[in-house]
Amino acid sequence: MKTTEIPVLHGSTFEAVIGLEIHAQLRTETKIFCGCTTRFGAHPNAQVCPVCLGLPGALPVLNRRVVDLGVRAGLALGCTIQPRSIFARKNYFYPDLPKGYQISQYEHPLATDGELAYGDDGDRRVVRIIRVHLEEDAGKSLHAGDGSGSRYTHLDFNRSGVPLIEIVTHPDLRSPPEAAAFFAKLRGILTAIAVNDGNMEEGSLRCDANVSLRRRGDAALGVKVEVKNLNSFRFLQRALEFEIQRQSKLLDDGSQVVQETRLWDETGSRTMTMRSKEEAHDYRYFPEPDLPPIEVSEDWIARVRTSLPELPDARKQRLIKEHGLSRKDADQIGLTNEWARFFEETAATARNSKAAANWLTGEVTRRLKADGTGIDRVGVTPEALGQLIRLVDDGRVSGTAAKDVFDRMYGSGREAEEVIEAEGLGQIGDESRLRDIIGSILLKNDSAVKRYREGNEKSLGFLMGQVMRATQGRADPKLANVLIKRLLAGE
Ligand code: ADP
Ligand code: MG
Ligand code: ZN
Repeated sequence: MKTTEIPVLHGSTFEAVIGLEIHAQLRTETKIFCGCTTRFGAHPNAQVCPVCLGLPGALPVLNRRVVDLGVRAGLALGCTIQPRSIFARKNYFYPDLPKGYQISQYEHPLATDGELAYGDDGDRRVVRIIRVHLEEDAGKSLHAGDGSGSRYTHLDFNRSGVPLIEIVTHPDLRSPPEAAAFFAKLRGILTAIAVNDGNMEEGSLRCDANVSLRRRGDAALGVKVEVKNLNSFRFLQRALEFEIQRQSKLLDDGSQVVQETRLWDETGSRTMTMRSKEEAHDYRYFPEPDLPPIEVSEDWIARVRTSLPELPDARKQRLIKEHGLSRKDADQIGLTNEWARFFEETAATARNSKAAANWLTGEVTRRLKADGTGIDRVGVTPEALGQLIRLVDDGRVSGTAAKDVFDRMYGSGREAEEVIEAEGLGQIGDESRLRDIIGSILLKNDSAVKRYREGNEKSLGFLMGQVMRATQGRADPKLANVLIKRLLAGE
């Protein structure tokens, strides 16, 4: 991925500088400080209690699972887990925040200093992670003018107290496509480790994008704008593209970018001012007096570390090393748990990793594309495909006929062995039968036979092709080759 060059007047070139703040809902049954369920889609305010409504006197009690998942995310992102982290009150007034403050972490976050690489071998980029901290989500406001015809603002507190991690990156990204690719990579990891469900439409994963421009080569950062709450890769990319255009126009005109928070307006395809720096919040953070510091022991960290599944990058490396896959095949097969599992099971039955990889990236991929589905809806089991590969390797069916067998197996639940028998697709390895077939072909092609005997080697290939055609690709190619030569030599 190339950095975007933004030409500006007066002979200077500018570049975009982007940092993301990502909010990910943790996969827990219950909220962060109370026992209310976190299930999505319930009737408004059906999942609330005095704690998550912020009623006076109600005391928060930390959900241990939230810490587990936070540590898990921190480790997967290469962070240092802090032995002691502290909740703080972030004070601000908003109708969907009845306590008047959000419980978050500020000076002492759970995890710090990680990094995440993305992109491919040729263009690998690393984004540094500043911090991963725990916090509670706020409620949701449904405003008048949202199409409901209501003159009021409605408040739904089901989300209030839902556990989140916030992941903050250094401003290491340089273009909108890079930012989208990074966000996608991050989503892949958070879902692979079962920390987040990846459901961006339901708001389980969303991001705030910070973007500024600076003269290429400058070390200092330009004035940034933050675009809030982007819940799709496309919105992220388009909002950044718009914002970069807007800012470069301002600089072109010799004016300044104003530091502010903006919102992405999808229907208008533009960002709009939400609040400017003059109204910037002073959150008056202070340590949360109702919650003790979180202490995470070395033991606890070690336990979470051993429970982590293999991450996509490590898996790709292993597939290359253990199974001899090409980088390109490993990129496709190692990307998701489903593909990797399907491959490893196929390879185990087939006892042939290379063939298993070829079938997956070839015929299986072709069928999935044709059907417009993914590997989770594949029409053949890894065992059945593995057996088909073994039959090819054992010479029971030719490589060409195997594709036909595969097509008949696919979606039918039939096994390779049975299809070969029933459809007569087995390889012809019987010597006297092949001899007969070849004999009649030599008779029909006497001119090619003559040319061969005069020393034209090419005629052999032609005759072999005729044998394959006559048998619909089922003749055992090695045996047929030997027999043709013998018969031509007059044996
Ligand atoms: P704030 O105090 O406004 O929240 P932070 O310094 O905490 O700002 O950074 C928040 C996010 O903004 C981080 O992801 C960071 O990488 C990014 N960021 C900070 N400064 C800039 C800048 N000048 N241009 C682009 N991104 C920036
Ligand atoms: Mg911020
Ligand atoms: Zn509650």
